[in-house]
Amino acid sequence: MITLSPTQLATLQRHAETCYPNEACALIVGRSDANAKIVDEVVIVENAWQSDMGHSQRDRYLIAPRDIARVDRAASQRGLDLIGVFHSHPDHPSQPSATDLAQAWPEMSYLIAAVYAGRFTTLQSWVLQDEVFVEEALRSHEP
Ligand SMILES: [Zn+2]
Repeated sequence: MITLSPTQLATLQRHAETCYPNEACALIVGRSDANAKIVDEVVIVENAWQSDMGHSQRDRYLIAPRDIARVDRAASQRGLDLIGVFHSHPDHPSQPSATDLAQAWPEMSYLIAAVYAGRFTTLQSWVLQDEVFVEEALRSHEP
């Protein structure tokens, strides 16, 4: 299970809507043990996908390695970890694509928001299990 606050949830929803029709990205910082992940901070990062790599930001995202390194370092200094990656699916369901699966790292939560016609609809979290994505329960309440 992954738990985030209503404010963090609202931040992700708003960011997904603001970036529409492009994919939005964020890094998720928090704490985790065997059963639960608690989100401490949602860090908005830019979608660094360049069209000359093929496709476009409407159906691809890239988080720059320097952003990952910066956020990971800042988290470590606070005794926290990078526990997840958020991105949005403009006009597609909040389920991972084949591309998402190919890029996934073990132990990370992949939070995906569906945004249809510029409006947020659903947010789901996914984790790798035996090289396939399984849905992870996602809760939103005050800490
Ligand atoms: Zn995706």
